[in-house]
Parts: sequence; C-alpha cells; structure tokens
Amino acid sequence: MMLRKLLNSVDSQFLNGLKLQIGGSSYLASRSVFSLPEAVGLDSDRSDEENGEMDWDNLGFALTPTDYMYVMKCSRDGYFTHGKLNRYGNIELSPSAGVLNYGQGLFEGLKAYRRAKGAGFLLFRPEENAKRMQVGAERMCMPAPSVDQFTHAVEQTVLANKRWVPPSGKGSLYIRPLLIGSGAILGLAPAPEYTFLVYAAPVGTYFKEGMAPINLLIERETHRATPGGTGGVKTIANYAPVLQAQMRAKSKGFSDVLYLDSVNKRYLEEASSCNLFIVKGGVISTPYTNGTILPGITRKSIIELARNNGYQVSERLVSIDDLREADEVFCTGTAVVVSPVSSITYQGHRYRYRTGEETVSKKLYEALTSIQMGLVEDKLGWIVNIN
Ligand code: PMP
Repeated sequence: MMLRKLLNSVDSQFLNGLKLQIGGSSYLASRSVFSLPEAVGLDSDRSDEENGEMDWDNLGFALTPTDYMYVMKCSRDGYFTHGKLNRYGNIELSPSAGVLNYGQGLFEGLKAYRRAKGAGFLLFRPEENAKRMQVGAERMCMPAPSVDQFTHAVEQTVLANKRWVPPSGKGSLYIRPLLIGSGAILGLAPAPEYTFLVYAAPVGTYFKEGMAPINLLIERETHRATPGGTGGVKTIANYAPVLQAQMRAKSKGFSDVLYLDSVNKRYLEEASSCNLFIVKGGVISTPYTNGTILPGITRKSIIELARNNGYQVSERLVSIDDLREADEVFCTGTAVVVSPVSSITYQGHRYRYRTGEETVSKKLYEALTSIQMGLVEDKLGWIVNIN
C-alpha cells in the first residue's frame, strides 16, 4: 500500500513534463515511464518505528548503510528520466565510465532533521544544493537535474529511510546526492550517459572532538585549488588531492588543514570540507569566494543570520596577519555545522582563540541549529517540511 502511494506521488510529479538544465538551458523532457523499484515488497522497512539496531547516543560521521537510494539516469539526449527508489547497494559501472577514468563527477551534502514535536522531517535549503549542483555540472560538462527533480529525489530518499533519521537532538540523516558520468568513454570527452543518485546515512558530529573546539594546521605546500581550476564547485576531484595533507595533519593531532591561496601563499581559503570565519572586535570576516573556495550554503546562511543579528560581516581577503590578531575563529559546513576553532598553527607558532558560551560562534550556532531543527519559527523560509 505504502509503496503504491509513493509511486503514485512519483508519477504525478514526474510524468507531467520534466524540466532539466543542460549548460544553463532548460529543456522540457518527454513523458517518461517509471518502472517499479527493485525493492518491491519491502514496505515493512519503511516504518518509522524506532530502529533498534542503532546506538543513537554515539553517532559519529561514519557510513551506516540504510535501506533505499534514489537513482535517475540521463541518456544521450540529455534528459533525466526514470527516477526510482532502489534498494541501497552497489551499482554497476563500465570500467570505462567517465567518472572512473576522468573524474567527471559531483556530489552534494545536506541534512534532514526529525521534528522535535509531531511527525515529519525538516530539510535545510535543499534548493541551494540543487543550484550548486547545476553550476558545478556546467563546469564539468554534465547535464544536471532540475531543482524540482533534485528536491523530489532528496525527499523520497528521506521518506524511504525514515527509520534511520535519528531522534531529535541526537543527530541527523546526512543526504549525499551524486551526479556522475556513468557512460563508457575512452578518449577524453564528456561521458555519453549520466546518473544522479541519492543515498543517506544517519550521522552525529563530524570531528572526533564532537562539539569541542578544533585545532587547525595551516598547510603551505599543498594547495586545494588554483585560479581557473575547480575549487569553487563540489567536484569529487577536489577531495582525494587533499587527503595527503589532511592525513599528515591528523597524524600530528590536528583536526584538519587550512589551505592558503596558491598564488601568494598568504590568504586563507578554507579547510578540507568547511569554510572559515574570523571575528575581530565584533566584526566578522570570511574569505570571499572567487572560484577557488566552495560557496558553502552554511557560509551563506551564517552571513545572513549574523547580519540579521546586527553584526557587520565582511567578505574579503583574509590574510595570515588577520588570523594572528583575531579574537575568534570558526568553521562552517553542513557536516561541521558551526565549529569553534581553539587554535591555528602556522610555521611552528600556535595562535589561540576564544571559545565557549559567550562567543559569536556559539550565538550563531544556536541561531542556525534552532532553525534547522525546527525549534524556532522559520522566518527566512529556509526549511522544507516533509511528512
Ligand atoms: N568547503 C568545502 C571544500 C566543502 O566540501 C564544504 C562541504 N560541502 C564546505 C566548504 C561547506 O559547504 P556547505 O556549507 O554547503 O556544506
């Protein structure tokens, strides 16, 4: 019964004409035919009963396989169609797939929270992730799902895995949309076929420190991005290259690495998976995004919340000298939320920062998470409710 209801809703949203973006242009797709998910007959998994397998009090940021993933293919004609929920599991790819050989791939990350009171779940600004994927897709020569297709797929993934959404206050369901060149290609060229896939896993805090302040190391040799490169989009190709520096920093006890601009080696860019903010004399500054820094959705939201709360926020070049003089430093991202930084180490010097209850980062953390968890009214229209 539940499965039929779900498919009907997929049907009505998708069969009445699909819109999708390719290279910034919008196309109207022809009617598509949905096949039944491979997961027929597994309705009992979809119950929202407490998941006895999980230790909700000790969630970190690790992969827990869930029940379903959403898969949608885009063929040579550039149309995404045939979106459906499949049982979560391995996918089959040609050894010659564009993503495996040439890194033609993007990912996104967003979270669903369980309502504190009443049934249902809350998504934070999913249309921003959809738009960022479209920008990245253009850079990587891929077609992208429309904002509606993206949001619908995310909602279906949450509903199909609702027993994996942690109880309110214990964590969230981290949702990972992927867009990959799944078609086979030998010479360097865009793949002939693309797959959009959404899976999810329950998570708690990102850093092993939990909610405690983190310690960062400034990296001088490895650069995350270069002007004209792909640092400003969320391509999979930006992440493996930072592993070496990240592992080095972790082996010395640091939580993560801060990257410098590759031209002057003087201006701060961001950490491996989060944006950077500093506070000096009550003024908040963050490196401006010029193509080498990922335009974080948390970053954008924090800038807006801070301004609404009377803070002056400046998007500008932030140098190592600014860091030396800062009162507070914090990082932002979907996974890390708002993480206070207690120290930054550069060329053997450790600079320390204020942390704790009375800090700007703590106030902004509270302001942001109370919206994300539905504890205050969503005056900015950032929340998408799913039931
Ligand atoms: N920078 C990088 C390199 C990231 O991978 C992320 C995580 N998406 C961020 C910043 C933060 O972005 P967001 O706030 O959208 O999660």
